[in-house]
Amino acid sequence: MSTEDSAGAHAHDEPGGAPEGRGGDGPVARRDRAVRAAVEQGLITEASPVAGLLDVTGIRASAAALRAAFDEVTAPGTDVLHAFAVKAASLVPVLRLLADEGLGAEVASPGELALARAAGVPASRTVLDSPAKTDGELREALDLGIALNADNWEELARLDALAAPGPDGLPPLGLRINPQIGGGAIDALSTATATSKFGVPLRDDGPDGGTPEEVRARVVRAFLDRPWLTQVHVHAGSQGMEPAAMAAGTRAAYELAEEINAEAGRRQVTTLDIGGGLPVDFASDTPPDFAGHARLLAATVPGLLDGRYGLVTEFGRSLLAKNGLVLARVEYAKSAGGRPIAVTHAGAQLATRTAFAPQSWPLRVRAYDAKGLPKGGPPVAQDVAGPCCFAGDLVAENRPLPLLAAGDLAALLDTGAYYFSNHFAYNSLPRPAVYGFADDPSAPGGVRFALARPQQTVEEIVAESGAAQRDALTGGLLRD
Ligand SMILES: *Cc1c(COP(=O)(O)O)cnc(C)c1O
Repeated sequence: MSTEDSAGAHAHDEPGGAPEGRGGDGPVARRDRAVRAAVEQGLITEASPVAGLLDVTGIRASAAALRAAFDEVTAPGTDVLHAFAVKAASLVPVLRLLADEGLGAEVASPGELALARAAGVPASRTVLDSPAKTDGELREALDLGIALNADNWEELARLDALAAPGPDGLPPLGLRINPQIGGGAIDALSTATATSKFGVPLRDDGPDGGTPEEVRARVVRAFLDRPWLTQVHVHAGSQGMEPAAMAAGTRAAYELAEEINAEAGRRQVTTLDIGGGLPVDFASDTPPDFAGHARLLAATVPGLLDGRYGLVTEFGRSLLAKNGLVLARVEYAKSAGGRPIAVTHAGAQLATRTAFAPQSWPLRVRAYDAKGLPKGGPPVAQDVAGPCCFAGDLVAENRPLPLLAAGDLAALLDTGAYYFSNHFAYNSLPRPAVYGFADDPSAPGGVRFALARPQQTVEEIVAESGAAQRDALTGGLLRD
């Protein structure tokens, strides 16, 4: 059985009120209060019919839970850097908030690096991991003092030219390995399959007929030849991977580090970067279990945590997903073939993966009325559609929910990670505004909002669609 199917089958919310009641201080009560207050404070309007909301209290709590989980299993004094995977929520204020909570940033492009720098994340707390770093990017990272993990043999050779003078003044440099432990439920996110594009494969037969042992010896030799290579990196998968499989990937990285250090006769590898990937339960309000994951690592790879190695983690989805939602107005309610359809303003432009791969990326949808109160009524199987002009633009299909009507609101839950950073410019729909929220008794509805990203304007869309090059194809080129 694949977990994606089981998640899909359960990905619907209970209709009706929040289990904790509206007065509670848990995440579900906070969410309901925020929706009500967002309506009261006019965040959802005809001109802005969709917005992202981020629970700042929840984000701080998730960051604290991650820190506490590793504090509990690591020897006192262990150097641990939790570098948030920027691609999961590439918003400067979010990176700033996480930095305030003691987290760093894992970046994978010049844009993500610039965002981390704009947020004030210090170079010493930034890690660069892209599989396609150019010479310029490598040089910039070295100049800035940003740790980086080489992805492959050719990149290592380029680093030889750039980093060769010796370890003095160099940031931590590592090599990403692929433990080839196999995939999870979502192929597109399985980074440790036999043929994954990421990292140096650890279990391959060599390309020129070498045995797996010879290939491994080549990896060890690569370290011994490069005293400045001090870090082993593994990121053995994201959503859909079993935590036990990820722990096995981490174990493979640890065992390689031990072998390198034994061969070197010194502690050359000082740091293990164990990636991210803790899965999120998109079918319930259960938060990701950082403590359980850390204990699993402690049980699977005890030597990793005994203080001999510094640790880097790169969690993304598990820190943010549960702390965000998309709130969208229902523009029309219609029916086709006997099926009710709510046409909302949230579709493939922001829930791209859900629209294109609904089995892998089911979302819970919660129905609110026009005042932002949880909608009651018997569940009716209906489609929740987006505004895009293609038939697959659905965020939920045949989903039992209180019947949505025009003016109601549909909330897409657990969308704090990847949904605000993976916009799809289809139909030239704008990137929606994103607001952070926190309880505040002095604010209308008891919730205060802070704009974290403005909605993209129509003028911006026109400008980035080549408005300044209007005559480029008719005026500047020769005609036949
Ligand atoms: C995407 C990615 C992460 C974060 O993965 P999550 O599933 O969001 O935790 C961490 N490290 C690397 C190298 C990645 O590519």
